[in-house]
Amino acid sequence: MHPHHSHVLQLDIQGTPQAWISLEHAALHVATGSVAWVDGEGPLATLRGGFNVARGRQSVIDVHPIIALTGASRVNLFDVAPAFSKRKLLRRDRMTCGYCAQRFAERDLQCEHIVPESRGGRWTWMNLVAACSACNGRKADRTPEEARMPLVYLPYVPSRFEGFLLEGRPIRADVHEWLAVRLPKGSRLS
Ligand SMILES: [Zn+2]
Repeated sequence: MHPHHSHVLQLDIQGTPQAWISLEHAALHVATGSVAWVDGEGPLATLRGGFNVARGRQSVIDVHPIIALTGASRVNLFDVAPAFSKRKLLRRDRMTCGYCAQRFAERDLQCEHIVPESRGGRWTWMNLVAACSACNGRKADRTPEEARMPLVYLPYVPSRFEGFLLEGRPIRADVHEWLAVRLPKGSRLS
């Protein structure tokens, strides 16, 4: 088992991603019977517990890489956009400056307000793009039209499935595939 892959994708019963959880946390859900269904290519780990007298053998818990919990969803279905973070934005924009179209290292990119903050532009998925410091500095407090710096791609609000991919943590191939096939058309990650 690769230690970086030991996180489990927790879904609600309808298959909406809720969180990355630890192996131990997932095992607790299995042990308490709160897992409705599992997915992924076989167990991530098999944990051995105490000796079960009634069954005459040691209890064994298979933890799968994707688990859906029974019970009502704890996620508001209208709250579909993943929480914003710089890390996720730069991945959404594929480490590419929205103005000069060049790729950069993560540390050389900034979150750029399309409509400047001074004009009421907000810190949202739709008003931010990745930009290199040269472009960010050149555009300054202007709109793309005023600066004559048209965007080379458009911002968008990632889906909840995409949000889990954008976090940038190592993801097992089968879990990556599970999320990727659920991306909306037009996602730059698909
Ligand atoms: Zn640039």
